[in-house]
Amino acid sequence: MLHLSSNISELNRVGKTNYILLKKLGLETIQDLLFYFPWRYDDFQESKNIQDIKIGEKINIIGVIDLIQNKRSYKKRMYITEAIVVNNDEVIKVIWFNQAYLTKTLHPGDKVSLSGKVLFQQGQLTLISPIYERIIGNKTIHTQGLVPVYHTTNKLSQKQLRFLINQSLILKNKLLDWIPEHIRKKLSLITIQEAVYKIHFPRTQKDISEAKQRLGFAELFLRQIKAQIMRQGLKNRSAYPINFREKSVKQLVNSLPFKLTLSQKKVAWEIIKDMEKSSPMSRLVEGDVGSGKTLVAIIAMLNTALNNKKSILMAPTEILAQQHYHYVSKILKSFNIKIALLTKNNKLNNYSKIDIIIGTQAIIQKGVEIDNIALTIIDEQHRFGVKQRKQILDINPNNITPHFLSLSATPIPRSLALAIYGDLNLSIINELPKERKKIITKIIAHQEKEKVYQFIEKEIMKGRQAFVVCPQIDQSDRLGINSAKAEFKKLSEDIFPHLNIGLIHGKIKNKEKEKIMKDVAHNKIQILVSTSIIEVGINIPNATIILIEGADHFGLAQLHQFRGRINRSSHQAYCFLSLSNENTNNPITIQRLSALEKHNDGFTISKIDLRLRGSGEIYGINQSGFPELKIASLFDYELIKKAQIEAKTIVETDPLLNNYPKIKEKLGSWDQKIHLE
Ligand code: ADP
Ligand code: MG
Repeated sequence: MLHLSSNISELNRVGKTNYILLKKLGLETIQDLLFYFPWRYDDFQESKNIQDIKIGEKINIIGVIDLIQNKRSYKKRMYITEAIVVNNDEVIKVIWFNQAYLTKTLHPGDKVSLSGKVLFQQGQLTLISPIYERIIGNKTIHTQGLVPVYHTTNKLSQKQLRFLINQSLILKNKLLDWIPEHIRKKLSLITIQEAVYKIHFPRTQKDISEAKQRLGFAELFLRQIKAQIMRQGLKNRSAYPINFREKSVKQLVNSLPFKLTLSQKKVAWEIIKDMEKSSPMSRLVEGDVGSGKTLVAIIAMLNTALNNKKSILMAPTEILAQQHYHYVSKILKSFNIKIALLTKNNKLNNYSKIDIIIGTQAIIQKGVEIDNIALTIIDEQHRFGVKQRKQILDINPNNITPHFLSLSATPIPRSLALAIYGDLNLSIINELPKERKKIITKIIAHQEKEKVYQFIEKEIMKGRQAFVVCPQIDQSDRLGINSAKAEFKKLSEDIFPHLNIGLIHGKIKNKEKEKIMKDVAHNKIQILVSTSIIEVGINIPNATIILIEGADHFGLAQLHQFRGRINRSSHQAYCFLSLSNENTNNPITIQRLSALEKHNDGFTISKIDLRLRGSGEIYGINQSGFPELKIASLFDYELIKKAQIEAKTIVETDPLLNNYPKIKEKLGSWDQKIHLE
């Protein structure tokens, strides 16, 4: 007997090879197959008569095979299978390449359904390499109506996948419908059984949208339940209330060489107000690269220190942690505040006298004992997941939860933030400091490289600095992609032998990295060649040029982060995008990258990127620790809102989910320990 948890190998026609291929796709059980959704559908809804066919169309026809035979083409070195198919007294020629076995499967007299593209060849209508299916009885799953198309590997065909999923659907009635019936009815959602069937084998577009609505809601709802549980859990925890030390904060602000932007002031104020409470703050600060988020964090940390409590500031990389350490120390130098840097290689034994601890994730890893922490800040939130967030909650040895602040340069639309981090409040810095000019961004052709080098030289003579970014450290077989090492050699030996060129990448030891970044900060290195390691956070205000080699290998949002490195002062900044050989003339690549030439703000860029690549990639949702969204669109604000309202109602009235055992089961082991205690 088959069960949802039965192994796929128990289905018909799953050999050893297929088993391995399916496993590669993450498919092991029948349930996995049922939830392996198509990413699109081929629309063969109308079965055509041969006489109505237009050349170039993708069509479905049903007919009877009149003749089928293999030919060998010596010129093209392949087998060609030719068939003549008759429908309504009209004939069409059908051709397949290198599928000689077809003559064993399909025979004259067989009724077949064929779907593919029609061309006009040698004076004849010809259907080229169509998907085919023998019709026995009336049912087709491969060639007619809306045919599902799945992501698969080369060796596992759409047909095989469809065949297996079709078999698995026998078990659909065993699926657990964990969405409470009253919610399902209220929102007119179909059952899980219907939805799973319709998502794979829809008869109409309406079937697809009903299925998507139902399955998408389930994904968002589960997320929202988790977020609401977290939120509720936080409400019941206590935090150290931090009083506003107005005089000192004013003193800090007045000591700066610039004026805070209005947004910075507003956000700092939101944080100060939040931290006065005795329940923990949970806040996300969003601001484009270079909008001055660190300063807002520093104000919160100063205020905390003046309340005799500690703050932690965590960054995703060691170099960024080091940079923060130097920056925070500089900004707070006139205050009597003790700041420590804590990284893998730099651990203190005693933190009792420290006010601010800056470091990487190493801080929250076991073995570091710190108490009296009133505030934890995470820089570049999207690199951290729910797991780390939970570790932070329990960082104090007593039961006091630190206020939580996270800083992100990725401009997430409000609806998206709601879906991803339903438990966070949002503060937005929506302006750059006034002094900043628009970055001039230009896609450059290979023959213009020489000119760009001359330009870099000229700027360096004026006292500026430059970054050169490459997609990889070492030269690999992929021709035409510059490596950081090769570029470093070329620039330091051939192009700029008279300048100081630095090289930094992930394989360089931390101590060495620190020295290099210090040399860059002091302008002892004029050109820094690097990998994407400098993507986030690095702040060298004097650097005004960035040349990105193999720019086509990066996403738009990432490229925007790169150029964020160079717009940190009142000097004019320049970003040059150089394409790798394979894409120098690729119009699609050029069009994609031209978004950077046209637009300067991260919000617009990431919207375009989102359209091109999907949300997971960009916002790091995949790493956020929440379950992946396979169906739901993060732009479906209506559905997100509905999911939030329903989740909120449930969690507020029944925080332990006692009346919802199915939801509880669905949540699985997810952090029952902390939040459902
Ligand atoms: P990000 O938001 O990308 O983290 P940073 O906090 O690193 O930006 O700030 C970028 C640079 O801008 C720093 O050199 C910082 O000192 C400077 N800066 C911050 N706020 C202002 C301001 N209001 N006016 C001018 N420069 C500012
Ligand atoms: Mg930053």
